[in-house]
Amino acid sequence: MTEPLCCEVLVIGAGLAGLTAALHLQENGIDTQVIEAQNRVGGRVHSMRQLGSNKEAGGAYIGAGYRRVISAAKRYGVKLIDVTPTLEFFREQELVLESRIIRQSEWPTHSDNPFPEKDKALMPWNYSRVLIARENPLQKTEDWLDPNQAHNDVSLSDWMKGLGLSDKAIKLGYDMNVSFGDNAQDVSALLMFFRAAFSLDQRKQAPKGVVGFTALNGVQRIPEAMAENLYNEVHYGKVVTSIDDSGEQAKAHCTDGTIYKTPRIVCSLPFGVLRNIKINPTLTGLQQEAVKKLPSQPVTQLYFAHKSNFWEADGFKPSMFTDGVAGMLAAARNGEDPTKVTSFTAWAMGPNAARLDSLPPKQAADLVIQEIEAVRPAARGQLEFLGLQSWGNDPFAQGGWAYFRPGQVSSFGATMGTPHGRILFCGEHLGLANRGMEGAMESGTRIAEEIVATA
Ligand SMILES: Cc1cc2nc3c(=O)[nH]c(=O)nc-3n(C[C@H](O)[C@H](O)[C@H](O)COP(=O)(O)OP(=O)(O)OC[C@H]3O[C@@H](n4cnc5c(N)ncnc54)[C@H](O)[C@@H]3O)c2cc1C
Repeated sequence: MTEPLCCEVLVIGAGLAGLTAALHLQENGIDTQVIEAQNRVGGRVHSMRQLGSNKEAGGAYIGAGYRRVISAAKRYGVKLIDVTPTLEFFREQELVLESRIIRQSEWPTHSDNPFPEKDKALMPWNYSRVLIARENPLQKTEDWLDPNQAHNDVSLSDWMKGLGLSDKAIKLGYDMNVSFGDNAQDVSALLMFFRAAFSLDQRKQAPKGVVGFTALNGVQRIPEAMAENLYNEVHYGKVVTSIDDSGEQAKAHCTDGTIYKTPRIVCSLPFGVLRNIKINPTLTGLQQEAVKKLPSQPVTQLYFAHKSNFWEADGFKPSMFTDGVAGMLAAARNGEDPTKVTSFTAWAMGPNAARLDSLPPKQAADLVIQEIEAVRPAARGQLEFLGLQSWGNDPFAQGGWAYFRPGQVSSFGATMGTPHGRILFCGEHLGLANRGMEGAMESGTRIAEEIVATA
């Protein structure tokens, strides 16, 4: 067995949360070592460079109000690219129900439209978002954890029913291609209010006319540049399997036999990963339950090249939002010219992702292509499968992002990030006022500040 290595703080995980914490500690003179299971940094920020034209598999969109991400990019010399010109094209997509294309212009008066009269013009992919933003009871993002909001920690489905919506409206307005949970019954309305409050806050902070950014050479350049600025190089291929905090110092054990011995550990692992790591003494109470039960969203993306502009042949928009296993087929525009489609990504979420994850990648791609071709004969033979990323099947992520089931915000929200002995926790799931990449950085800074304050 290798001799234990020492440092003042050991950071487990080189995603945005872990790297943010490490850089903050380093700046405050604390000797910090980051260890990472994989052979790259970034975690759920992953630019698929091997597939060309910077297809992003993880965190892609940097809101123009993402103060932390933008300032890290500036500080570490990563050039950001304004994606505002491409956004208008995201609104252009065809609705597909039961293999039939319904144009946006047909939807307000379509016989399948189950939305209330005043909302008939809203498309299913926008419906829950607009509704939640309109009715959001939260004044500030942080309020989602306020016990006075506990009555809203009910299923999104119950909340929508409370507004008088039918089961069909909920199915089309949320369940069709879910961002959180398997369906509207599986996600807390309070989480959705938090997300809407965060989006609004972002828009308020954004400079006028700028919606968001990506990074030159891929968003992964940001964590890479952060890691390049660490005095101690990240140790790669260090898969932590257990943490022992019972002795004089805490110890992290890795599969390759390395043991890190340290006075403090910052653990940035998603709970889906953490639940498989042995911690001694064990976590207790609601924190233990949260680590065991907090779910993470199944998300699978399939990347396709197109051999021809098949949408010019059938006259429909290139992108589609479907109720089938293909989920949302998004035309990517990653080149200089935003009008030019560079490739396609099929986004499958929740049950669709779980179904595709059970198949070998080629079979999953064939299923998606078959479905697209059945809807659009002009696409026959025109899509070439490039690759697939399943976050649900990734052992170091165990899902795309954490979500809360009804009741879980009230039970876990306030306590799940509490330090456990010498172990402190961070990660996107512990963002208190921000979500996604910005939430990951918020949590990393908070934990590092706590350590600095007590050092
Ligand atoms: C498909 C997708 C799209 C997204 N789009 C956006 C977006 O557009 N905008 C946005 O803001 N956010 C987006 N996000 C969310 C954002 O990417 C994440 O919230 C953020 O990157 C999470 O950072 P983290 O540091 O908390 O976790 P991670 O990035 O998951 O970092 C954890 C690290 O721990 C490592 N690790 C795991 N297990 C072990 C182990 N046993 N031992 C040692 N190391 C281990 C992992 O390899 C990883 O590097 C998206 C996420 C996904 C999946």
